[in-house]
Amino acid sequence: MRPLIKLEENKQVFFVNEIYNDTDPTHVYIPIDINKQVSYKTRDYIYKNTLIENTLVHTPISGYVTGVKKVKLREKFGLALEITNDFKENPCKRILSKRIKTKEDLLASLKDKQLLELYDKINQTTFQNLVLLSLDEEVYSMKEFMITSKFNNELLESASLLMDLLAIKKGYVAIKNTSSSVIKRVRSIMGTYLNMKLVLLPDKYLLGRIDFLCSYLNIKGEETLVLKASEMYDIYEAIIKNHFILDTFVTISGDAIKKSLVLKVKIGTSLKELVDKYIEIIKDYELYLNGYLEGEKIHNIEDVIITKDIHTIVFKEKQKVVEEKCIKCGACSRICPMRINVYNCYVNNLRHQKCIGCGLCNYICPSHIHLKEIVEVKNKNES
Ligand code: SF4
Ligand code: SF4
Repeated sequence: MRPLIKLEENKQVFFVNEIYNDTDPTHVYIPIDINKQVSYKTRDYIYKNTLIENTLVHTPISGYVTGVKKVKLREKFGLALEITNDFKENPCKRILSKRIKTKEDLLASLKDKQLLELYDKINQTTFQNLVLLSLDEEVYSMKEFMITSKFNNELLESASLLMDLLAIKKGYVAIKNTSSSVIKRVRSIMGTYLNMKLVLLPDKYLLGRIDFLCSYLNIKGEETLVLKASEMYDIYEAIIKNHFILDTFVTISGDAIKKSLVLKVKIGTSLKELVDKYIEIIKDYELYLNGYLEGEKIHNIEDVIITKDIHTIVFKEKQKVVEEKCIKCGACSRICPMRINVYNCYVNNLRHQKCIGCGLCNYICPSHIHLKEIVEVKNKNES
């Protein structure tokens, strides 16, 4: 593995040290599959917690269907059902899962709550290790740090329950060594979890990825269940509290806004509504979805809704830098953690299947060339 690097922090970004809870969006937008039948019509009433047909989303509000809207989803555009909030929080009738005593009960409950990614992760094999990961990859993200800071008891309780249900012997709580306030909090409660150990990670980019993390911890990736703090919090809500997952956490940050913050929002809330309520924009900006290095540039704020797979929105000050001619320095190839000959891809306009989209080539290039956009295979089915 290439030595990992520390990213330069942007000192102009000021984070508010609390999680804002946005509980009353005027609308939510639930992405729908246009190839599948959805029978909702305008003015249909939807109860809170209803599982929307052909989606994995339980509605986080009650209200009326008022139309469909084009929205930006991960790497593509799609349609979403618009539900207008009646602010009554009328819940649909629901059947509570039975008490979780076995791995089978756990899997059934995850399926019931539509946590299918977690279901697949947990169902795939037998694990020897569990890692609760509190690490935000980019300097513009604070979500995992803030969740660990505010919900450390809940996270450790869930981790301990998972270890019991899955018969996992070794547990790790992995936190960045610069997060001193969180380390102090977690240390103060670790004593009651004897089979778990606190590990402090250096502030290096890419340690949030399972393969790099396990290699650093010297444990086998295929035997290790790695769950981010946000995923462990979903386990807490779904398994310990027996709730449907109606909310998600998102960081809104960047040097073009006055204060950066982490928000807990209803799934499907529009970014525009959140920005109007909480964000003061102070400079001309470019908008990035899911981070500045790894993320994707967005042209219209109105298109973005906050779904489970959106963790960070970055308002980056518009730069005056212009792309210049390649000086053949080779820095892009030297920094690539996947050992791709990035320079060769650039001159021959080639994509590379091994590219993980980390953005380090863009970060290092002195000529400001958008190399990731050339090399990364957006859809991995593409040749
Ligand atoms: S974005 Fe792709 S090509 Fe660029 S450094 Fe990362 S893995 Fe290598
Ligand atoms: S880092 Fe930029 S300037 Fe240097 S070789 Fe790569 S593309 Fe060319």
